[in-house]
Amino acid sequence: MEIAKIIEESQRFLMNTYNRFPIVLVKGRGTRVWDSEGKEYIDFVGGVAVNVIGHCHPKIVVALQKQAQRLIHVSNFYHIEPQIKLAKLLVKNSFAEKVFFCNSGAEANEAAIKLARKYSKTFFREDRYEIISTLNSFHGRTFASLTATGQEKFQKGFEPLLPGFKYVPFDNIDALKDTISSKTCAIILEPIQGEGGVKIPSGDYLKRVSQICKENKLLLILDEVQTGMGRTGKLFAYEHYGIKPDIMTIAKGLGGGVPIGALLTTEKIASVFEPGTHASTFGGNPLVCAAAIATLETILEDGYLLDHCRRMGKYFLEKLVKIKEKYPEIVYEVRGKGLLIGMELTMEGASIVKACLERGFLINCTAGKVLRFTPPLIIVEEEIDKLTITLKEIIEQYREKRLFNTVGSLN
Ligand SMILES: *Cc1c(COP(=O)(O)O)cnc(C)c1O
Repeated sequence: MEIAKIIEESQRFLMNTYNRFPIVLVKGRGTRVWDSEGKEYIDFVGGVAVNVIGHCHPKIVVALQKQAQRLIHVSNFYHIEPQIKLAKLLVKNSFAEKVFFCNSGAEANEAAIKLARKYSKTFFREDRYEIISTLNSFHGRTFASLTATGQEKFQKGFEPLLPGFKYVPFDNIDALKDTISSKTCAIILEPIQGEGGVKIPSGDYLKRVSQICKENKLLLILDEVQTGMGRTGKLFAYEHYGIKPDIMTIAKGLGGGVPIGALLTTEKIASVFEPGTHASTFGGNPLVCAAAIATLETILEDGYLLDHCRRMGKYFLEKLVKIKEKYPEIVYEVRGKGLLIGMELTMEGASIVKACLERGFLINCTAGKVLRFTPPLIIVEEEIDKLTITLKEIIEQYREKRLFNTVGSLN
């Protein structure tokens, strides 16, 4: 089918919930994807931090093929071997003792919010149910996760939201202390705010949050949906900060591309969920678990990939810092951990994303002005060089246009 026709049908039959670029992606391999016209792109979006080991990694493909021939779905009325194996792997490689599987990040947070309330009502009091979240956070689009999301732009039009949430500025300990009351049961936050613009908390913020939780017997819920699965150079971002969450949610990179989410917690907290309290039809089905096992095993092999991620992240960041130093009037700040990297501009980023796309690079812009890079963790120096050289050219061109007062598209 001709491209114009595909796009026309896409707009005709799909709800208008995404601003899609006018290309149709049909194939992927490693760090590359191809569109329907055969044009190749280097992928610095990685399906928004999902394709951690690259597109169509042979280990995932084989695992999916084998599992698809054996058993795809049966429901959680029965024991499922790949689900048990995946849970065991996650427990072995984290703070957790128990795992609950679902299908997305929002659902994992939904489960976390339910679990925190049930725990507090069981071990404390009926009226101890408030959850403190941070401003500028992102936790998903379902009602509880949307309420936890501290950004009005996502909530507008859907009120009334879920009762029992309070918001504090991210990276501000005093505001957090002031907001805790006898009704508070938990704090939910991302170790690094992803969607909010790759905001990295300063110094010992997370450590102090963890201490405050302990002192007040609050549960610390870490949303590692974006930061987890090796993205920041450790399997989970909390490992950088010398803390342990009480509940952690993961999704995005967990299945390496298949939809799966999970909640991880301790034995004691998990004990308040009994048969019937929470469930998911698809959660942890054999097919997605097979892909997640392949993904996790690949990430953990010899620690090679995590080390590579840290090195590439550092290399990438250094290149971006050079661009910032050269064009301070266009680049405001560069920040990142591992391969979760943000470049905050002094202008809207959409036109730069478009210019990159035209030159064969997928990048993303979040929070309006922050170019976000979340490539597969297998990305190499040469690819980072290609992108940063192109970015520099685009910014240079933009600056010239601006100097000559002919701002507009960067085609
Ligand atoms: C993407 C994201 C979510 C939502 O995940 P979905 O799978 O889209 O529901 C939640 N929290 C964080 C931190 C995210 O980055």
